[in-house]
Amino acid sequence: LKFDKLDFAVICALALAVVAYLKLDVLKELFAADDSALAVQSSSRDIVEVLRENKKDYLVVYASQTGTGEDYAKKFAKELAAKYSLNVMCVDVENYDFDNLNSLPKDVIVSFFVSTYGEGDLPDGGLEFEEWLQVLEEGDLGNVRYTMFGLGNSTYEFYNGAAEKTQKLLKQAGARMLGTFGKADDGAGTTDEDYMAWKDDILEELKDALALHEKEVSFISSYEYKVLPQDLMGSISLGEPNSQYLPGKTLAKKENMQLGPFDATHPYVAPITSTKELFKKKDRNCIHVEFDLSGSNLKYSTGDHLGVWPSNPDEKVEKFLTTFGLDPTTIFDLKPKDITIKPPFPVPTTIGAAVRYYLEISGPVSRQVIGSLLQYVTEEQLKERLQALSKNKEKYAKEITSKCMDLADALLYLSSGKKWTQVPWEFLIETVPHMQPRYYSISSSSSSDKQTVHITAVVENYPNPEVSSLGPVTGVTTNLLRHIHLTRTKEDIAASSLPVHYNLAGPRDLYQNYKLPVHVRRSTFRLPSNPSTPVIMVGPGTGVAPFRGFIRERISFLKNQENVKLGKHLLFYGCRDDADFLYHDEWPVYAKELGSSFELMVAYSRIPNKKKVYVQDHLLERENEVLELINKGAFIYVCGDAKGMSQDVHRTLIDILRRGKNISEEESSEILKQFKTTGKYQEDVW
Ligand code: FAD
Repeated sequence: LKFDKLDFAVICALALAVVAYLKLDVLKELFAADDSALAVQSSSRDIVEVLRENKKDYLVVYASQTGTGEDYAKKFAKELAAKYSLNVMCVDVENYDFDNLNSLPKDVIVSFFVSTYGEGDLPDGGLEFEEWLQVLEEGDLGNVRYTMFGLGNSTYEFYNGAAEKTQKLLKQAGARMLGTFGKADDGAGTTDEDYMAWKDDILEELKDALALHEKEVSFISSYEYKVLPQDLMGSISLGEPNSQYLPGKTLAKKENMQLGPFDATHPYVAPITSTKELFKKKDRNCIHVEFDLSGSNLKYSTGDHLGVWPSNPDEKVEKFLTTFGLDPTTIFDLKPKDITIKPPFPVPTTIGAAVRYYLEISGPVSRQVIGSLLQYVTEEQLKERLQALSKNKEKYAKEITSKCMDLADALLYLSSGKKWTQVPWEFLIETVPHMQPRYYSISSSSSSDKQTVHITAVVENYPNPEVSSLGPVTGVTTNLLRHIHLTRTKEDIAASSLPVHYNLAGPRDLYQNYKLPVHVRRSTFRLPSNPSTPVIMVGPGTGVAPFRGFIRERISFLKNQENVKLGKHLLFYGCRDDADFLYHDEWPVYAKELGSSFELMVAYSRIPNKKKVYVQDHLLERENEVLELINKGAFIYVCGDAKGMSQDVHRTLIDILRRGKNISEEESSEILKQFKTTGKYQEDVW
């Protein structure tokens, strides 16, 4: 075997590439290891070994995509510990190997919390676990007793599909389920109540199975909590997305230092290079935002999602701190009591930073949280009030949920304005949900807009439906985007009726000059690879976002190819009237570029004195053509509202197929199901 110089050079280059690749991982590991949040990784990955080493007597395992499953798993673990003094190990399925699960001590029960993602799939972190379950044989888990709680959305075809799949595989391997199979339905907005009902049933079951005795609930922190001296202020986290942005660390040192890989645990602080108000009337807002990814090495494909990391507005931060009598400048540290627990956010940090950047303080408050606060109430009347509310879901819905109260609102309402300074901060850290990124369907094309990602966000801001004195109900991220837009374009903020205001500069001015942490999340929403395949797109409101990306993609493709025949691209769009017609000026330009292969149908639902028209009405109007395109192999895409629109569109398509092919409703619905399985019918709904 002979090597010439070229071979040698190629081998060296390959070797370097491998080293570089490995190094990326090593670097990432190093960064992660440096993050005290990941201390647990130093231990074995064998779930049973870690459980034994840490003398745990109950196991909670979660597979969570956006953090909701994790929140419920942790809540459940906390309650088991507080009520029954169980020593619970609560873990992310991703971090452990389960090969020895069957050798769990016989009085240890496993509670699974499984979220469904995509087409009935387990979250990314659960895929290895699923693969392991699939190769098990009957009897392999004969000693395992478990409970199952799934988090899903009934507006999707594969409702709670991941939990169903996990449950089936566990059962096949001989594991025995205790109690009922809990299923939370986000589509019906009942996740919290579904959890409460399931949990009450399961706790009874566990009391019997483990001979547990209930004691008065008292919060036991999972961390050693320590207040640190103020002179540390220069080096601690002030709300940075992770430790790499802290003073002295690589990303903080150098502007535009692009040390990735950036992902959901390590977002990239991206400059916002353009913003635009898309609505023409002042009463509602929709912001187009462009993030510059150049140099970050972040890549996206047309149809992906962008995760945007928000922070809480001043008004809500202030209200929360005042309600609980917290000093925002207090520096604290959290040391996990054992290696199976990790701090929920970068520490040490200040109370102010944690409230602003790491906790979800403004969303609806759950009945369970109100119940868990009973331990801090001594006044009899207030105690009775809390007890009555925490036990009665109808009463709770009427008094708290329907008024869109957040935690501070609800508590001040219950105590008639008296502060809750007796509630320890450690309790709030472990009880209030942690801030999650919000996802947006990318509205640009990775072919035409390689370095920039566009999103189209409708601003959540509406009057409180019942108590106007509580102020408007506002979304965290979308009002932040609007605040950035108004400031960038030098509009008069005071005159803009912006309901909440943010610290746009961010921790240590990290977000100054309009930046926000983002990451790209892969989706399966993709144009057919053959450009001559016809495409039917249905996207009212901001559901049009990915279709703007699709159309820009096709234009870019045409520019780079000669003699290509594009299939028909039919877009069904819906809006109230011309004032909220998104990208009104762009569509004619796109139509000019694409000629007869592109057509936009606009359904208006609020034109005075005119019948309301919706996207599904236009689908029906074009029934014959829709059918013809489907017969020619068209791909169908639906994006936007999961509750009403996507189901109406689905029903309309069933009808169109049924009539057109002269088949039964079951048969046409089966065809659509097949289309979904083969990727010819794709939904991106929320
Ligand atoms: P949040 O703070 O998350 O609040 C959510 C809602 O609850 C708001 O309506 C808010 O007003 C309300 N609320 C706040 N506090 C309370 C309370 N105490 N009680 C009751 N209600 C309360 N959105 C888009 O605009 N464009 C897109 O392209 C888009 N694509 C998406 C793609 C995917 C895959 C997903 C999952 C979602 C997508 N969304 C999109 C929705 C988006 O992720 C956000 O949910 C949305 O922008 C609201 O975020 P927010 O932080 O402003 O509101």
